[in-house]
Amino acid sequence: MSETICLIRGDGIGPEVTSSAVRVVAAAGVDVEWVELPAGASALNEHGQALPERTVAAIMGHKVCLKGPLATPIGGGFVSVNVQLRRRLGLYAAVRPVRNLPGVPSRFDDVELVVIRENTEGLYSGLEHEVVPGVVESLKVATLSACTRIARWAFEYTESRGRKKVTVFHKANIMKMSDGLFIRCASKIHEAFYPDIEYEELIIDNGCMHLVADPGRFDVLLMENLYGDLVSDLCAGLVGGLGVVPAGNIVDDCAVFEPVHGSAPNIAGKGVANPLACIMSAAMMLNHMGQTAAAERIKTAYNAVLTDGDPALRTPDIGGRGTTDSFTQAMVAALG
Ligand code: ATP
Repeated sequence: MSETICLIRGDGIGPEVTSSAVRVVAAAGVDVEWVELPAGASALNEHGQALPERTVAAIMGHKVCLKGPLATPIGGGFVSVNVQLRRRLGLYAAVRPVRNLPGVPSRFDDVELVVIRENTEGLYSGLEHEVVPGVVESLKVATLSACTRIARWAFEYTESRGRKKVTVFHKANIMKMSDGLFIRCASKIHEAFYPDIEYEELIIDNGCMHLVADPGRFDVLLMENLYGDLVSDLCAGLVGGLGVVPAGNIVDDCAVFEPVHGSAPNIAGKGVANPLACIMSAAMMLNHMGQTAAAERIKTAYNAVLTDGDPALRTPDIGGRGTTDSFTQAMVAALG
């Protein structure tokens, strides 16, 4: 039976990396009917809207989406489509597994952590205004309900994956109310429902120092929206960069999978974007859909291509001299 999956190709390198992932999913033997949907800067040009209503409706209907990165104008312009999508679809939990890959050069070889990011609140609430000329405010929002549901989600995830420890990054020494609420909720959920999971709270600046000194000490990291954004990229740097970190935004009735990286306009159209983060996101998606054998085949294939170590196959960001296409072809051959 064929699977129906929504596809947003995205901006910048988005079309290149999503095309690669689509080829790899087909080579893994999954019969997919892709429902292509407009979103982002390209949708604004072609449809007059950065997030057309039919895109939201289709993802709500089909419940699963693979999404390329969407460009967000800096310092003005339309509201980030990534943020709008997460809000409209209620995708409050982002999960980003960060681990070493065979043959990918990195400073550490024992990274096996997961960043869980609250996706809907904090400074991403979009509540900004000018108080008087020359003075602006951005409001950081934290609610009991959202802090509690992300804490529950994080502990549930930790338990279901057999992981052992949750570390919450926060700055409750300064933001006593908002970050204070976040850690109180996490601590309550831990005490009430998951006392057997190890629990730790770290002030985020100290946490970042520990991350770059000894990432192997961490297991699951839980944090609010902006911290999750920053720490995800930091963690990507621990294992070889943005080209190798996937993500899923997952709630009960809807899930959107996407690479952690952005649209990388500096390399768009050059054919050198690393498609692996998008391929790994597709593998996460297949696991989520119960297509675990196909997901495992994809994982085995990229491990084999990377272990082979041929620099002509892999992209420059991970030490190769290949292209998006050479890596994709190697994946297809490994799957074939
Ligand atoms: P956006 O504004 O959409 O977030 P950005 O360029 O600010 O885009 P990213 O797209 O996250 O931020 O990328 C930062 C840099 O990392 C890029 O300029 C690019 O050099 C590199 N990079 C990101 N993703 C990849 C990838 N898949 N393959 C190779 N290099 C990448």
